[in-house]
Amino acid sequence: MKRFENKVVIVTGAGSGIGAATVRRFAAEGAKVVLAGRTREKLESVAAQLPKEKYLVRVADVSDYDQVEGLVRATIDKFSRLDVMVNNAGVASEGRATEDSVDAWHKVISIDLDGVFHGARAALPHLIKTKGCIVNTASVSGLGADWNMSFYNTAKGGVVNLTRSLALDYGRDGVRINSVCPSLTRTDLTTDMFKDEALIAKFRERIALGRTAEPEDIADVIAFLASEDARFITGVNLPVDGGLSASNGQPPQ
Ligand code: NAD
Repeated sequence: MKRFENKVVIVTGAGSGIGAATVRRFAAEGAKVVLAGRTREKLESVAAQLPKEKYLVRVADVSDYDQVEGLVRATIDKFSRLDVMVNNAGVASEGRATEDSVDAWHKVISIDLDGVFHGARAALPHLIKTKGCIVNTASVSGLGADWNMSFYNTAKGGVVNLTRSLALDYGRDGVRINSVCPSLTRTDLTTDMFKDEALIAKFRERIALGRTAEPEDIADVIAFLASEDARFITGVNLPVDGGLSASNGQPPQ
């Protein structure tokens, strides 16, 4: 199925994990893809699998609005349109609020929340022209709280409500805005966690489907939300979590 033939898609955080899988998925369905992130080598190695005329690599830090605006401008310069903005770049946080630094708070908020706002703000004028859409990578950590992750919980909670607000404000312009809310997924962000078998077993125990996610599990849903199949869905923060959020938190018996 080629749902994105002649469509232009920007993916931030495209050099690894969910972003890289999202690039591959859109490209497999015919899209021209702009791979954005901080490290050119990582972006180039993902892009190496794509036909040369179908991609653009652009180094951009999503926490800097000017760089995100430059990313969108470069996309329009090369492909003359923008249909889908995937605001996916993100970092995690660890530790209680009194234990991590104030700088660490600002870093997480500036990448995980400001970065999504920057992407939406820069992309929206072009998405209004194409009746395009935005898909944000939020998290189950934006739908509820985790132990020792208050900075991340706050940023992702912000993404969840920003998704709803933007959906209300731009629906009449024909632009849909949704997010995916993944649970624990095997990526660079979680490499250390996946080294701890006992910890991963605890996660699996809480997930109805009995396993953690692979990046493709999330990328496929991002593509669905961006596709015509999801034409009547906007303002939704969709858990992609194997049933984790179906539980009220009590342990399985
Ligand atoms: P990842 O580390 O493989 O990917 C994140 C990417 O974002 C990296 O390539 C990184 O270089 C890039 N990035 C970081 N800061 C950036 C910045 N300032 N500007 C541009 N790019 C930047 O991890 P991932 O798990 O694929 O993360 C993708 C998204 O998924 C993140 O928003 C993350 O919060 C979210 N998420 C991940 C999980 C999980 O368990 N892995 C669960 C829920 C949500």
